[in-house]
Amino acid sequence: MRVKKGDTVEVQIGDNRGTRAKVLVVNAQANTIVVEGVNRVYKHVRRSRRNPQGGRLSMEMPVPVANVMVVCPKCSQATRVGMRVTSAGTKERFCKKCSASLGQIGPAARMKTASPKG
Ligand SMILES: [Zn+2]
Repeated sequence: MRVKKGDTVEVQIGDNRGTRAKVLVVNAQANTIVVEGVNRVYKHVRRSRRNPQGGRLSMEMPVPVANVMVVCPKCSQATRVGMRVTSAGTKERFCKKCSASLGQIGPAARMKTASPKG
């Protein structure tokens, strides 16, 4: 999964093609993401204690991650994302168009330490 929560992505396929919006949820197992305002559906809800008014609730449904491209914050193009190891030993994502860093992935590489139980 090369898309992270909080990334800006551009939708490539479907009704929302061309839309740029923020990633709200990433589901790595299903390879889907929820993008703000993309793939909105109306869920019809009955009156209930939680929602005494009932009516239609607008919510975003997940879209396949393959349907979007990450928008690079540096060159603001929809781009593919690469991975590389920095000189500090950490992995980072980078824009394949302008090769700007898109931020580290996780903490710095961990050193192998002896387990406390021996
Ligand atoms: Zn770029």
